[in-house]
Amino acid sequence: MRYCILASGSRGNSTFIETQYARILVDVGLSAKKIEDYLKSIEIDPDSIDSIVLTHAHTDHVRGVGQLAHKYKLPIYAHPETLDAITPKLKQGQKIEPWQEAFYVKDAFFTPFHLSHDCYPTFGYLIRENSKTLAICTDLGVTTERVADHLRSANILILESNHDPLMLMNGTYPWHLKERIASRVGHLSNVEAGELIRNVYNMNMEKIILAHLSEDNNTSKLALNTVLEIVGNQLEPYIHVIEQRRISEVFQL
Ligand SMILES: [Zn+2]
Ligand SMILES: [Zn+2]
Repeated sequence: MRYCILASGSRGNSTFIETQYARILVDVGLSAKKIEDYLKSIEIDPDSIDSIVLTHAHTDHVRGVGQLAHKYKLPIYAHPETLDAITPKLKQGQKIEPWQEAFYVKDAFFTPFHLSHDCYPTFGYLIRENSKTLAICTDLGVTTERVADHLRSANILILESNHDPLMLMNGTYPWHLKERIASRVGHLSNVEAGELIRNVYNMNMEKIILAHLSEDNNTSKLALNTVLEIVGNQLEPYIHVIEQRRISEVFQL
């Protein structure tokens, strides 16, 4: 499996995943044009994409989905309620693939798991090819043992580390927004991400990627240092941080 985080954060999210037989985008939170540009920059022809899979219907995850799906005739896999929510963005005749539980996109096996977030429903995914598993887990206000159970089986963990609690509270956001982000249906803080990693880390985990960082209430250094304080410096070689405005390298699993 190869994967590349094209963008991550409140300005837009999209992750490219390639298995032996499939090329998939998880979320299309950027314009179709930007997605095309990013894919070309990693030498992927947008025409070779097979499918789109969505986590939830927030704009930063679905902004370009209608355009991109229409232009390249891509089926959209999502929970039925997510598909309902994005219907206004879709053109007539658009192919949709509602799922109720775990599903295949060609040889990629997707196991969804529920996340507590202020967009109902929101899912994380385990994505398995052969014996290797990638987890995508962003946009959650609180962690549960059920979420942790799923993450334990991942070889690669892409995890939200959204904000530093002090930066958020002392920052310029209006109070209702601060409350929303910090709430049980908001976003995971650096501290919560660190505690979750400490809870789920095991020898099968090859890489942990901190993602969906807030541009206003976090820095990549702060996210990394906070997490390391909690999990211990011995994990430093395994932890990467994704910055909002920079496409990640193409990782191989
Ligand atoms: Zn988001
Ligand atoms: Zn969201």
